[in-house]
Amino acid sequence: MSKRIREDKIRCDACPVMCYIADGRIGACDRYGNVGGKIVRCDPLTILDRRLEAGGAVCAFLQSDWDGSLAGDDVFVSGVGSGTTYPDYKPAPFIVSREVEGVDVITVVSEAIFSYCGVKVKIDTDRHLGHEGAVVRAGGEVVGHVTTSEYGSQMLSLGGVDHLTGGSKAEGRVTCDALLRLCNREAVELCIEGGAVVIVQAGQAPIVDGVREERMRVGCGSATIGMFASQWQGLVDEVVVVDDHITGVVSEHQAGKVLNWADTGIRIKGRRSTPGRYFQVAGPGKGWGGTDIKDPLTILNPWLEKKGARPGLTLLMVSTTGEHHGYYVLDEGLVPQAAPLPDALRASVDLIAENCEPALCTVLFAAGAGGSLRSGVTKNPVKLTRSVQALKTHVTCGGAPAYVWPGGGITLMVDVTQMPEGSFGYVPTPALVAPLEFTLSRDDYRALGGHDGAVRSVADILEHGGEYGAEVRIVGPVRDGGDE
Ligand code: SF4
Repeated sequence: MSKRIREDKIRCDACPVMCYIADGRIGACDRYGNVGGKIVRCDPLTILDRRLEAGGAVCAFLQSDWDGSLAGDDVFVSGVGSGTTYPDYKPAPFIVSREVEGVDVITVVSEAIFSYCGVKVKIDTDRHLGHEGAVVRAGGEVVGHVTTSEYGSQMLSLGGVDHLTGGSKAEGRVTCDALLRLCNREAVELCIEGGAVVIVQAGQAPIVDGVREERMRVGCGSATIGMFASQWQGLVDEVVVVDDHITGVVSEHQAGKVLNWADTGIRIKGRRSTPGRYFQVAGPGKGWGGTDIKDPLTILNPWLEKKGARPGLTLLMVSTTGEHHGYYVLDEGLVPQAAPLPDALRASVDLIAENCEPALCTVLFAAGAGGSLRSGVTKNPVKLTRSVQALKTHVTCGGAPAYVWPGGGITLMVDVTQMPEGSFGYVPTPALVAPLEFTLSRDDYRALGGHDGAVRSVADILEHGGEYGAEVRIVGPVRDGGDE
């Protein structure tokens, strides 16, 4: 770049990219611009006011009508729109003092650049999305993998420093973009090797191979037997709850035994764990109960007459969501024949469905905040780490409580639906940018070597703004479910 062109531009030093930005233009991350020869943050500083209704917002031009000075604990200056401390030798953009129940409380506010970050995605579905360890792609690039299944959900681990920095430039760029969109609650299509294509959006139902998932299962097959055994007694001779993990059989299950359920001579394929609980009755898939079967009778071996099988014996087979069900009667040869579901049993199938929760995608942002940004809080960074670990310093992201992992460092996780809309940004290094606040008493802040001289009141911030501008938006809190 020629000297003359560069003289017309000014340098943004809010991240290592150090863009030179011409007047009226914005930098590579769309978050900073040159306004009349000054670098400003393009988004306003977000202040949360718990007295406002969820979704209620006070626009910048109405600030004069808004009284934050009397608000105490109700008003919280979040990191959203605050700017970064990069390169971190200086105090954080805002170090805010508030009086809460007679105690002077400090909140250190910034937008942190996270080179070490990713998301843990929980997808409520029984449908098999892919084997544990299978790679997950977005836009053709590997961005993560399938991790352990949880109870009624399948989990993905996406991003992380290996994908952001350890692969090709394209892998890092696409990973950063997928993380950014997931964290900002946008829909992202993910392709699981050897498995499904799933559209994930925080707070919304997953879409698996084009089908929107409706229900999260009521429990595993064994748990379903435990919950509903007594409601089936007297209405049907046998019940099998088909589940890829633990298929339940009521006549053998402990719940059935306690109810003196009669033997039926049923025999289930797969590996018997304990009475009435079977593993691996079929392969994983998108059929009944997360198995690959379309016909549930394929998991049955021939019935045993000497163990109670008889012509006319009735059988209900149902999946863990109630989505699949079938009713059968044994014929003279002890072969189940499909029959209409009696009305008396329909209520129990409906009850399974009723007890299922709506299927959702959950996105937790997971990141390490133990790096140089701590210098924006204190001149002695390890004291911040120790203060967080001692629970003297409370960590939030955009006002949402963060879970901090025990052990070394400040490794946090936060539910993105609890954060204000548009909380996340990125820099092309690549890394994500997320709001981060450390809150502690002023006495503790001084004790850990905090930048006490940089402490300001909310009123002062409203009047004078900060290094990157003075625009403010005041919004109501985020409620469960993600609505502001
Ligand atoms: S990428 Fe953004 S934060 Fe980084 S220097 Fe450019 S404008 Fe500033």
